[in-house]
Amino acid sequence: MLLGAVADDLTGATDLALSLSREGMRTVQVVGIPPADFDYGDAEAVVVALKSRTIPSPEAVALSLDACRRLIGAGAEQIFFKYCSTFDSTPEGNIGPVAEALHAELGGALTLACPAFPANGRTVYRGHLFVGDMLLSDSPMKDHPLTPMTDSNLVRVLQKQTALKVGLVTRDVVGRGIKAIGTAFEYAADRGEEIVIIDAITDDDLRAIGQAAAGMRLITGGSGIAIGLPENFRRAGKLSANRAESGFTAPQGKAVILAGSCSTATRRQVSVAIRAGTPALKLDPLDIAAGRTTADKVVDWVASTTGAIPLVYSSSEPEDVKRAQQALGRDRAGELVEELLADVALRLTSQGYCRFLVAGGETSGAVVNRLGVQALFIGPEIDPGVPWTVSVGLQQPLALALKSGNFGGEDFFLRAWDLV
Ligand code: ADP
Repeated sequence: MLLGAVADDLTGATDLALSLSREGMRTVQVVGIPPADFDYGDAEAVVVALKSRTIPSPEAVALSLDACRRLIGAGAEQIFFKYCSTFDSTPEGNIGPVAEALHAELGGALTLACPAFPANGRTVYRGHLFVGDMLLSDSPMKDHPLTPMTDSNLVRVLQKQTALKVGLVTRDVVGRGIKAIGTAFEYAADRGEEIVIIDAITDDDLRAIGQAAAGMRLITGGSGIAIGLPENFRRAGKLSANRAESGFTAPQGKAVILAGSCSTATRRQVSVAIRAGTPALKLDPLDIAAGRTTADKVVDWVASTTGAIPLVYSSSEPEDVKRAQQALGRDRAGELVEELLADVALRLTSQGYCRFLVAGGETSGAVVNRLGVQALFIGPEIDPGVPWTVSVGLQQPLALALKSGNFGGEDFFLRAWDLV
């Protein structure tokens, strides 16, 4: 193992595993902390998918440290802490606390923070995160149910979450190339900075930063920054040169779409699918809390549908999410939906459903945990950052497309099936 990654949610981990495998590393994605005797096979990169984005920081820190120690113990030379390209976090964390703990664990040398993912419209300029043409704080991320992002200045956001001294390396330096970036890292370390936000607006920027960061034990960021890392191992002669592409076969059987994301892209995908004739059932957290909606009822509805692949969704407009949160509490509302969709998924597997498209990072984490999936084999990419995967470690393999809420084109729910 060369690169070990700790991802704070499942769809982010999948997105990262996809980038690394596309850049030529044999990659395995593990769900949760791998057991000490886990067989990584001949993996050159291992991505551990946690569900630690919104849990209390001490728990996120403990889990991330556990994962890091497992990966280092299995030979990883570099650790990558992966979070969302929209820097999803609350004022308490967990990006800052986890980065801080990993920084200390790995020797305390300078590290970087770069959520940029230009292919998906996430760029960082002068320390400010843009989503498409909008500042993060003007984007729909301001209304996220769990991690509303209301400040685009990442230096300020991160500094509020950590005792590490946060610095900034700007685009003018990044644009001058690898050597200039390396020098900027040295200056930052001389100034006592321990983690630098680094601008990136193109994939070339990310590759240059990746190369300049070859010697860092710890790197933190979105999956974008990972595109530059495999090349370092290749240049050092550590990557296997000749790699037969492993075949990908999705199991045949019944399929369902479960959407627990309220992100703009998912809401659009829901309405496009419904307009195209997809049978759809909308869940309301208040009905779940009151026992009016149960997993059994939802499963019966799914089984009763005919024709197009059915969609069960809780995706709602920000006002409706607020209403549910006011009545139930933010975490409780989220949990109720996640648990219900996870229950539904599990029950459907015993009725022959083996193809699941799940929308939402937290939602996917809940579903995959409930299904008992240990690891995922990465398959073809549906849209940037979202591959089909096949479960590893279950008696009946499942095809899973786990979509981060804001990813995917508007006809994603209709088109994803073409690849399986
Ligand atoms: P994304 O990838 O878009 O961030 P997530 O699944 O990570 O999606 O997060 C969405 C969160 O919102 C989940 O915890 C989910 O259970 C919760 N949620 C879904 N629908 C509703 C709703 N109608 N009201 C309140 N919370 C909801």
